[in-house]
Amino acid sequence: MEAGWLPTAYHGKGNAQLKALLVEDDTATRLLLEGILRKKGLEVRACPSAEEALTLLQEEFAALIFLDIHLPGMSGLELCHCIRQSEQGDYYYILVGTANNRADDLKQILEAGANDYIAKPYQPSLLDVRLSVAEAQIREISSRKRLESELKFLASHDPLTKLHNRNQLEKVIGGAIEQARRGISSFLLYLDLDNFKLVNDTLGHNSGDRLLVELARILKESCRSDDFLVRFGGDEFVIVFREVEEATAMQIAERIRHRLDKFVFSEKGKIFHLATSIGIVPIDSSQTPAQILATADSACYAAKANGRNRVELRRNETRRIARMASDADWSSRIREAIQKNFLALWFQPIIGFDKRSILYHEALIRYIGPSSPQPIAPQTFLGALERAGQLVQLDRFVISNAMLALKKSRDLTLAVNLSGLSFGDDYLPQYVIQQLELHGVEAERLILEVTESELIKDLDHAAGLIQRLQKEGVRFAMDDFGSGFCALSYLKNLPVNILKIDGVFVQGLPEQPFNQVVIQAILTIAKKMGIVTVAECVETGEEFELLAELGIDYAQGYFVAEARQRPYQLSELSKNLASRKSLK
Ligand code: C2E
Ligand code: CA
Ligand code: CA
Repeated sequence: MEAGWLPTAYHGKGNAQLKALLVEDDTATRLLLEGILRKKGLEVRACPSAEEALTLLQEEFAALIFLDIHLPGMSGLELCHCIRQSEQGDYYYILVGTANNRADDLKQILEAGANDYIAKPYQPSLLDVRLSVAEAQIREISSRKRLESELKFLASHDPLTKLHNRNQLEKVIGGAIEQARRGISSFLLYLDLDNFKLVNDTLGHNSGDRLLVELARILKESCRSDDFLVRFGGDEFVIVFREVEEATAMQIAERIRHRLDKFVFSEKGKIFHLATSIGIVPIDSSQTPAQILATADSACYAAKANGRNRVELRRNETRRIARMASDADWSSRIREAIQKNFLALWFQPIIGFDKRSILYHEALIRYIGPSSPQPIAPQTFLGALERAGQLVQLDRFVISNAMLALKKSRDLTLAVNLSGLSFGDDYLPQYVIQQLELHGVEAERLILEVTESELIKDLDHAAGLIQRLQKEGVRFAMDDFGSGFCALSYLKNLPVNILKIDGVFVQGLPEQPFNQVVIQAILTIAKKMGIVTVAECVETGEEFELLAELGIDYAQGYFVAEARQRPYQLSELSKNLASRKSLK
């Protein structure tokens, strides 16, 4: 808020004429009072009702409101209350005229927010005293309020340029971050003068100050009313462009750069051409205000390094760099892991509701490198490998290691997860058949799990590949069913043997009647088509019991009626197999 925001009558500039509003329904009294007030040097507007008074107050401020308590329509007390609630409510001096002199009535008047009251019929001498008190009070409130507002202004503004200082900046960026979460984009601009020091050194600080004031004026003119412009430091400025798209933010930034490039500062017979470097960043909900400012500062630094007098845009730089570094790390780590055997297959059984029969085990990859004694789960690195195009290599490693396990444990049936890339690879059937032959493993003991979303990407290809390997005896499971599309109609076109219902439908099932209905629908179709059903991520006894009741064939998950439901290592696998009879 600027210092000039106070109502003009309150500026207290010496004896500036005070404005008064008179509200009185009796015409004779109104005319009389109007005359008295004018004589005292007040500028007067008058009206007969509370409603008209409110309209007049919207048009123009009045320091003194003199109102009669008895008004037609809205009463004087209500009017008083209404005025106090308004935006400038604290700045009015309200004097109420009343014929009721009882203590209760007077109390009511003061409670409604009046500053003073005067008894009717008005006596000229008393009226004179009351009005003098009012005038003194008004001048007093006026100077106190002005001081208050000046202090408030100074706390949040730079005294030289009158722009905002950095005090409010964090809050404003915080607000824009909140908006970013709701999908509304904002940008932050960081501007630094390229040769301000030269002006300061050759012309002195006073000239430097004048230049900054000029600069602030240009920046203000270039901004929209919604933008938040801050003098951030000596010759550094920050602008938050609220609720803009990238193109608009860039346009404004370019306009500012252009105007400052054309600007010439002349003093003491010397002429200076200014140039600015500007960094601009999107306000991103994953960062803190400090991080956003740091990124903008480094973008501004890059603008200087890249030749000055330019705008440099950074998009989510830190996150992108961090991801690239980690992608590169994982890519080389996994390449090394494949050679040095830092990868292991863990196993998790898919069990029947008798809790004894095992349909098969699923192989789940873990990274156990020299620097990570704790096994690392695949979600940490699968994304990086996919971006690096290394997933086919990983899947082949898993298939060949699965063969070793199958060769070792003759009772074992094993499922391997296939990435979309491997599933799309035309050489996959050939590779699988070759591996089975090489290790002397029966194709019936291998199951390939492919997610629903990968399978439906190209239905013809998927159906062809599945049939090609099914002919050899390999079975297919549709993984994570329901996580994406949950379209039962796809089952008609995809001849899978097993359907694994995604954990989202299973977790908390007893409290989710809708999910129970979905599972029933899936079961009806699967049964008709002779597809075996598996519920994933079964974690509790209640879920297990309910799934059994619904008629699901098998369960997988941490639910431990017996031990070893979490994925385990090969040594554990043989113990577990020995204690159970595999159904295959
Ligand atoms: P998925 O195929 O759905 O595998 C099941 C995941 O659920 C496994 O996580 C398993 O540990 C976890 N899980 C099992 N029971 C429960 C349970 O009761 N509750 C919960 N919350 N989770 C349970 P994991 O091993 O971290 O694997 C994650 C995903 O990574 C797998 O999901 C699969 O898509 C992929 N993946 C795992 N191993 C391989 C692999 O060798 N090759 C490829 N291409 N992908 C793999
Ligand atoms: Ca799986
Ligand atoms: Ca799954």
